Amino acid sequence: MSDVILRLALPSPLRRLFDYRATAAMARQPLTPGMRIRVPFGRREMIGILVEVCATSEVPADKLKPAIALLDPTSPLPPALLKLCLWTAQYYQHSLGDTLSWALPVLLRQGEAAEIRQERFWQVTADARLDDPRIARAPRQREALQTLSQHPHGVAHSLLSKLGLNKDSLDLLLAKELVQLEVRRQRPATRHEHWLAQPELPLNDEQRAAFEAVRSGFGSFHAFLLAGVTGSGKTEVYLQLIRETLEAGKQALVLIPEINLGPQTLARFEQRFNARIALLHSAVNDRERLDAWLAARDGEADIIIGTRSALFTPMKNPGLIIIDEEHDGSYKQQEGLRYHARDLALVRAHQENVPILLGSATPSLESLHNAHTGRYGLLRMNHRAGGAKQPRFLRLDVRSRPLDSGISGPLQQAIGKTLDAGQQVLVFLNRRGFAPTLLCHDCGWMSGCPRCDARMTVHQRSGVLRCHHCGYDERLPLRCPKCAHVDLRPVGAGTERAEERLKVLFPDFPVLRVDRDSTSRKDAMHNLFTTIQRGQPSILVGTQMLAKGHHFPRVTLVAILDADGGLFSGDFRASERMAQLIVQVAGRAGRAEEPGKVIVQTHLAEHPLLVQLTEEGYFAFAEQALSERRGAGLPPFAHLALLRAEAHKPGQAEGFLDEACSAAERLLAEQGGQGIELLGPVPAPMERRAGRFRAQLLLQASARAPLHRLISAWLLELEQMPSGRQVRWSLDVDPVDLY
Ligand code: ADP
Ligand code: ZN
Ligand code: ZN
Repeated sequence: MSDVILRLALPSPLRRLFDYRATAAMARQPLTPGMRIRVPFGRREMIGILVEVCATSEVPADKLKPAIALLDPTSPLPPALLKLCLWTAQYYQHSLGDTLSWALPVLLRQGEAAEIRQERFWQVTADARLDDPRIARAPRQREALQTLSQHPHGVAHSLLSKLGLNKDSLDLLLAKELVQLEVRRQRPATRHEHWLAQPELPLNDEQRAAFEAVRSGFGSFHAFLLAGVTGSGKTEVYLQLIRETLEAGKQALVLIPEINLGPQTLARFEQRFNARIALLHSAVNDRERLDAWLAARDGEADIIIGTRSALFTPMKNPGLIIIDEEHDGSYKQQEGLRYHARDLALVRAHQENVPILLGSATPSLESLHNAHTGRYGLLRMNHRAGGAKQPRFLRLDVRSRPLDSGISGPLQQAIGKTLDAGQQVLVFLNRRGFAPTLLCHDCGWMSGCPRCDARMTVHQRSGVLRCHHCGYDERLPLRCPKCAHVDLRPVGAGTERAEERLKVLFPDFPVLRVDRDSTSRKDAMHNLFTTIQRGQPSILVGTQMLAKGHHFPRVTLVAILDADGGLFSGDFRASERMAQLIVQVAGRAGRAEEPGKVIVQTHLAEHPLLVQLTEEGYFAFAEQALSERRGAGLPPFAHLALLRAEAHKPGQAEGFLDEACSAAERLLAEQGGQGIELLGPVPAPMERRAGRFRAQLLLQASARAPLHRLISAWLLELEQMPSGRQVRWSLDVDPVDLY
């Protein structure tokens, strides 16, 4: 046995590394951080990532187990990626091993070779002839040979069925040496010289100014916030900056929100460039993900486009990072490693010394604050490219007006007028289903979820009550479960109800619903959009799935059925989120010749934030909201960390948090931590969810460094606390949702 100690990160929640002894054979190899090593762990085996090689260990020699196998000849992880993961684990106070699990492709974690898959290609041999007598009476083989001969570079094995090629026929042809099999890499290794597949649009003055500003930052770290109204042509600016990046022989990484994954967004990139584009999002399978990751790492992908986790894609020659719709909530991961991809992208850009561009029509208050303090260059684009006008807003006070399935009389008239003028209407309501509650008119029973402190939503069409928080569902009752009377009434309106009502009100026009229920079928979304693009007068009803990235040239009226939720909520970010949603949805209106109009139904027509938003626009709203945050000592003027706990029995979560709170108070006294407040523990806003009782403790700090000093010592104690074993707990650094 050697004295070479391998210090590994293992996929475990424990915030520590694990030591193993290298076998003599391993010790003779060059060992570098990032290599994967198989080791025994309890009664199982695990794959760990080598972090360092040491000569001594604190583990007693007789307890030190030997590693089993070294999986890589060299490290599959470039040093830059390992560095980013180390930073991430530190900052989010998360175990390094688990951080790596989130950051790396699944197959890599499972021990798959870190090499791009070799694909088998079927190809016609040089002297094969269609009139070969051996296949004269074999029509299927002849047909296969014919098809294959149309592909001089061969056909990948995985694409055979797509081309209608039959494997048995090919095997017979192979035996006759009329076709051959070749094993090679799937991606061509050559680089293109002409990057543009499509001419660029000439930039307007605002676009040019933004483009030049970012381009002059090429070659080193610079951060920019591109705050451009909807339709101002941000995407065109991205595309031209990417072209510059490609011409400089570098790669571009583009992050998009989950909701923008539609074919429309991706098509714009694919149509523009002759480039190798690696896609990394939820719909690609594990093998494709690993191949894309490897191609990016090896410089064989020019543009990397993906959602949140694509942030961890290594690049051989990074040149530019773009975060589209930087305000979007999907950049924050809400489980396990609770990272924010936008925030980490800044760290990465800094570490790799490349420029980063954050773009949005409705920037987050955090990013605006960073622009104000000079950390980001602020680039504004205030006009729509192509000359379309910004939509006009109208606040429609619905106090004391009857709502008919959520739709007021004046709104119905406006919808009718728009349709009669041959235009389209978009009705936005961020609530799926038929109605948020079912109520018994006799005894007052309401459709509470048995597992949550929440109501179950009525889904009329599928005939169920479903909880949107835990997924529990049951058959829609015909009689009240409590008093057995039949007068059960849906209360409030969701998209299903609005759709149904609009169909009755406007029987001559198509009404199309877009939400998670209506688009669960694979091509449903596509079919909907094809109908809309045809341009005949129609009504679109939907949730925030309608809000982003879409271009509906014939929509001239946007109706927002309920703007009040964001103004009442206890969550301090709710108004920001509501404003972003309203502006993004409104941005769908009037993107072509006809000007657009936005009607906002509200009970709070005089609410200062709503007035500001609808009369002066998002940036005026944001200033107002920022000054409120400053006054209240909330982010971005303070830093938060949230300790959440949940347990099956009431009181357990609070018990743990009480202990945690005392520990934090003691540590604060020892460390002299200034400006840190402990708020709670308190029950979570929805105390019971999916059958568990939840509570939380909020840490609010005026400066980041003391907060991090506190929590890193604190977590070590929390891991040891016996009361922590009975609860599920987690720490969220920079929480976005305080639930
Ligand atoms: P954003 O991403 O800011 O919402 P888009 O990039 O989608 O805006 O652009 C909105 C519309 O304006 C698109 O149809 C786009 O083709 C068009 N457009 C963008 N830039 C220009 C330009 N310089 N000249 C003419 N049309 C443009
Ligand atoms: Zn009843
Ligand atoms: Zn529930």
